[in-house]
Amino acid sequence: MAKYINGNKTNRDLIAVCEEAWEQRLAGKIPVVNGVTFENATKLGRCQQHVREAVEATAYGREWAWPEASCCATATHQKLAKSGYQIIKDLTSAQSGDLVYMTPCGSRCGTCGQDAGHTGILHRLRDESWMMWQNTSAGGAGLCVREISSSEVKRIVGIYRLFPLAANTMTTPGGERPINWHGHYLHPEDVIFHDGAHYVAVRAAAKAEGSMVKVDPKTGKVFVGPASWWDGK
Ligand SMILES: [Zn+2]
Repeated sequence: MAKYINGNKTNRDLIAVCEEAWEQRLAGKIPVVNGVTFENATKLGRCQQHVREAVEATAYGREWAWPEASCCATATHQKLAKSGYQIIKDLTSAQSGDLVYMTPCGSRCGTCGQDAGHTGILHRLRDESWMMWQNTSAGGAGLCVREISSSEVKRIVGIYRLFPLAANTMTTPGGERPINWHGHYLHPEDVIFHDGAHYVAVRAAAKAEGSMVKVDPKTGKVFVGPASWWDGK
């Protein structure tokens, strides 16, 4: 089973943080998302800092909590390669929200002495082109969202998935996919996977939690609650 930094958050949640930070930057603000301040949004060469802050805003709601975050993109990539998080083979297997690492970048990390490398968060558009949410010194951009160039693709050294693609999923070694719903397992037939999200039959979800579903025949409203609610009614 894949290891996740936070199984209740998904790659979509990470993308939502990235989009929120980008929108605030476009509006001329220093982005603040989930209690994390992206204070160097207008400065350059902050790729590692901003990816760390996006991951931490998503997973923890505070800074300096992500154990694999290191001095630069290269050192973080080296930690992630040994961390147990899912390693994605190449861009064709990647999904929006995966972290991408590249080297060289041409400048040396003052802490570890290696080429600092580059990092960003992948975001695939509807036309299938790959964008990268990142902080780059290229063009004096700072925090930005840009298409990945062909030269950047050649410099990719690692792609990692820190969050599941959808919530409440578990894959067993046998290949079945029982669905974990707030700690209860649902029959896969009661769950529909569509467009990256799970849709759960309300009766199945209620039953798993020991609740019942009742429909008010007058109004058509659906009520979900503990079985005791319905006793004597
Ligand atoms: Zn370093």
